[in-house]
Amino acid sequence: MINVTKTFLPDQEKYLQYVREIWERGYLTNNGPVLQELEAELKKYLGVDHLYFCGNGTIVLQIAIKALEITGEVITTPFSYVATSNAILWENCTPVFVDIDAQTFNINPALIEASITPATTGILATHVYGNPCDVEAIEVIAKKHNLKVIYDAAHAFGVTYKGKSLLSFGDLSTCSFHATKVFHTIEGGALISNHPELDRKLHLLRAFGHQGDEHYLYAGINGKNSEFHAAMGLVNLPLVKDIIAARKEVFDAYDSLLNWDVLYKPVISKDIEYNYAYYPVVFPSEQVMFRVMDALREEDVIPRRYFYPSLNTLSFMPRQIACPVSEDIALRVLSLPLYVGLPYSDIERISRIINAHLSPE
Ligand SMILES: *Cc1c(COP(=O)(O)O)cnc(C)c1O
Repeated sequence: MINVTKTFLPDQEKYLQYVREIWERGYLTNNGPVLQELEAELKKYLGVDHLYFCGNGTIVLQIAIKALEITGEVITTPFSYVATSNAILWENCTPVFVDIDAQTFNINPALIEASITPATTGILATHVYGNPCDVEAIEVIAKKHNLKVIYDAAHAFGVTYKGKSLLSFGDLSTCSFHATKVFHTIEGGALISNHPELDRKLHLLRAFGHQGDEHYLYAGINGKNSEFHAAMGLVNLPLVKDIIAARKEVFDAYDSLLNWDVLYKPVISKDIEYNYAYYPVVFPSEQVMFRVMDALREEDVIPRRYFYPSLNTLSFMPRQIACPVSEDIALRVLSLPLYVGLPYSDIERISRIINAHLSPE
């Protein structure tokens, strides 16, 4: 079976070496030495100064909202993974969906201002598929209306924009290091801050909000991660450049094999160094998408409807807000298999099946 993704597993012996050391120390979690080493290495690799390794890519969204004291309404994108809007709901805020740009699939900044009300305090936008949001336009709007900006950068590990880490835009960015992402720690995530004055608060919020047994400062949560997860990160991090290069090969192969007279995909910014996180293709209709998906499944190839459904249409959202562009693309998009070690012959086969099922009837 060929799945949409396959978890990258490094050399087992290198990982076990860390496990033995952790065993000897008997120190398994709570800001341990392996975790601190991973944080230092990640800061170096990503070119950021303030980074907190946490339990997953969802709790960091919640901590980010809490840390910036965002309340009331949060402008957000309907075209993301459900964790983005669920984090807003779990922080007792109201997601206000603003439609996406049909070229980039990111939140359309031209539509943001019309959705701002006196209750709006923040913007939470996703760099979809690792492709940067219009960070400049969003910054202008945020300054004008005094809004905090959080980027869900779960897809954006290692992406640079105009020579700078994409994570250095907005007030806070969050990453996911889940096993399915470009860089992973099995489960994991990180908060990246551009505010040194928030250092202590972020540090405390991820670990129950108290310093020692005396000082209880914030309503913190358990957002910690363990030495074992950090160790997986330390083993994987030196391989990330090769992982991204291998993903680029798969990406380029699809680019050259698929029928672009009929299909299209998001326009990737020219100002970035990309990480080739996903390979989404948009079909002419949902009907064609289903036909292709069925044909692939018959050959044991499992693509993913990513993202579907458009988050604004979920029944549990407190407000139903129409986002026609996002709803339309969500119906027609599939993410194709993309991972290290996917053989060229399979990419060819997948492309052939897709191209053979594109006619409208
Ligand atoms: C994966 C993902 C998350 C959630 O990350 P977890 O580590 O699985 O909690 C959040 N947002 C987006 C856009 C994601 O792709």
